[in-house]
Amino acid sequence: MSSLESNTEADSDLTPKIPVWELPDVPKGNLSPHLQLQRTRVVCNKEAPTNTENVQYSGAYAAMGVDNSLGLGEFRKRFRVEVIRLTEGDMEFDLIGIDASLANAFRRILIAELPTMAIEKVLIANNTSVIQDEVLAHRLGLIPLQVDPRLFEYMSENDIPNEKNTIVFKLHAQCEKGGSRSTVKTDELKWLPNGSELLLATENMASNEASKPKTYTSFTCSQDSLPEFSKNPIAPKHPDIIIAKLGPGQEIELEAHAVKGMGKTHAKWSPVATAWYRMLPEVVLLQEVEGNKAEELVKKCPVKVFDIEDICKGVKRAAVARPRDCTLCRECIRGDDWEKFVALQRIKDHFIFTIESTGALPPEVLFTEAVKILEDKCERVITELS
Ligand code: SF4
Repeated sequence: MSSLESNTEADSDLTPKIPVWELPDVPKGNLSPHLQLQRTRVVCNKEAPTNTENVQYSGAYAAMGVDNSLGLGEFRKRFRVEVIRLTEGDMEFDLIGIDASLANAFRRILIAELPTMAIEKVLIANNTSVIQDEVLAHRLGLIPLQVDPRLFEYMSENDIPNEKNTIVFKLHAQCEKGGSRSTVKTDELKWLPNGSELLLATENMASNEASKPKTYTSFTCSQDSLPEFSKNPIAPKHPDIIIAKLGPGQEIELEAHAVKGMGKTHAKWSPVATAWYRMLPEVVLLQEVEGNKAEELVKKCPVKVFDIEDICKGVKRAAVARPRDCTLCRECIRGDDWEKFVALQRIKDHFIFTIESTGALPPEVLFTEAVKILEDKCERVITELS
């Protein structure tokens, strides 16, 4: 017997008893089952995933009489959003029936194109701490602010800072001489609704009592007189973020000016700590796994996807209990002949999306704002083309 023949024999032993595409989980369409599987699933083999591409070409299956074009009617029928978890700070939801390119568009908009308010300019009157001025300014810039950015306007280079485009905070912290070290936290950043209190350098020198001294901002009214802020005073989202540590006798006195911006300019304006997605995993048992083998399978999975069922008279059988938790680590198909028992797949048009807000806006609002931005972009393209 040649070595080639013996290999072939060994390989046929490893072939699953049921082809994956004949399982009830695989959607049946007009295409032949293996093409339907290729179109709708990423298959995760022991070595590497296959069928990772998306077949977008409308005539891809024309030879089989199948129209693969993407129509709005079909999209409307299939598209669904299901919220799985929603808290003040984060949200997990399923986007079903969309292409990876659209899911990725939402992710990118959330990270880089949704505006927030962040500290951009820091006027330091005194800093005798060990933190250099530029490091201190950078730390202040990254503090999430609890304020709705939709209530503010963008400030361009030549604009004068006013109540509609700037938020001013003041920080004055001292550590007493002879005392113990102190920690400066975000709760010491005080909002100045009337704008800057620091006088412009030229005005400082030539101030006269008749005219109102000029400061770094030019507010026409107090921000706390506006109905949006009278009941929601502006402040850092978290009061306990450490800004600096002061030794005895050290002092920090500064003013921080926050303006509206986007994450694509600097990450400090990104409204999300993270926004990410993954395709829904599908774990399929290709044949019954019973007895010791079932227990071995349960032990193999680090995230407890499988459970043991007692079928009758103490006979134990493995069952897929929590497929959503699968991380596709492929541990359950490693070694021996496990690929005969378990098939791992991902559904190509089902995305588990997670948004973690930094606190300016709730996560569900962030997503609806991202949808509006994508809508605006589409309208712009349609206008340009027509
Ligand atoms: S791929 Fe990893 S996480 Fe998923 S079922 Fe197998 S062992 Fe568990």
